[in-house]
Amino acid sequence: MDKTKRCGFIALLGPPNAGKSTLMNQMLGSKLSIISPKPQTTRSRVLGVAMEGNTQLVFLDLPGVFMPKRKMERVMVEAAWEGARSADLVMVMFDASKKVVMTSEARSILKWLTTEKKQAILVLNKVDAIPKERLLGLAQELTATNLFTDVLMISAKTADGVPDLLKLVAPKMPAGEWQYPEDQLTDMPERLWASELTREQVFLQLKEELPYAAAVETESWEERRDGSVAIGQIVYVQKETQRAIVLGKGGARIKEIGQKAREEMGRELERKVHLTLHIKVKENWSEDINFLKAQGLLGHLER
Ligand code: GDP
Ligand code: MG
Repeated sequence: MDKTKRCGFIALLGPPNAGKSTLMNQMLGSKLSIISPKPQTTRSRVLGVAMEGNTQLVFLDLPGVFMPKRKMERVMVEAAWEGARSADLVMVMFDASKKVVMTSEARSILKWLTTEKKQAILVLNKVDAIPKERLLGLAQELTATNLFTDVLMISAKTADGVPDLLKLVAPKMPAGEWQYPEDQLTDMPERLWASELTREQVFLQLKEELPYAAAVETESWEERRDGSVAIGQIVYVQKETQRAIVLGKGGARIKEIGQKAREEMGRELERKVHLTLHIKVKENWSEDINFLKAQGLLGHLER
């Protein structure tokens, strides 16, 4: 074994909306995780591989930690804890620009760290939206818990502090062979990634409960001779009334969702994408374990 090599898993743990997925993408320099202003955008663990010198950093972007009510929510929160348990280091992330940072969700994470005794660092995010001086009290309070080896203030959005973060965590990883080929970005299947980009548009373009009632599945993926790819997807909703909303007036909404998602896919894949979307009503899909499994939502149980 090459003694200079290191490799470790780093879990991004925090309440919904802390900016975990934004940080993940910044660290990878790639649009892997989907992001929206709404909580609970990330539904399952997303694995992303980054290199820092001779160290392979395997990040686990996770759903946020909150009080789950429905089955899908329970599965999501369980994936968050499971990801954190499996990691060599936990990066706890809070939105420092919020009026109240130390919510019950935040406290549940500190409590977990107390019992788990895992190496952890604290990342206070969104410092572009709040003067750093206003965070000193909070940073002190959290340093005093002795749960964190380091406390950092960053902006995932502007990348302020992100390079330092990578440099900080790399030496904390265990010595060992890399787990993934150097050029591999993720273990996420391309079809699932493509579904996620469409789901991101559903989160960005639709209001209230609709994004939470929606799921996306890639039905077909056809490589064409001219180098383009034709992708067929189904957008699932739970009621007929929701179908009408996703469709929009004269089909305008679904068209806009498809157009934006297609552009994103094309940009990342660096080729032309043809995207066809169909809407299907599937009552209570979010309570259906087999459906959630097909959605990749139970992937963390199969590792
Ligand atoms: P997650 O739920 O923790 O994965 O959070 P996301 O990465 O999806 O981000 C939630 C929202 O916070 C999105 O609207 C992001 O654009 C925004 N956000 C993330 N990081 C920052 C940041 O550093 N500054 C600001 N102002 N907004 C951010
Ligand atoms: Mg997320």
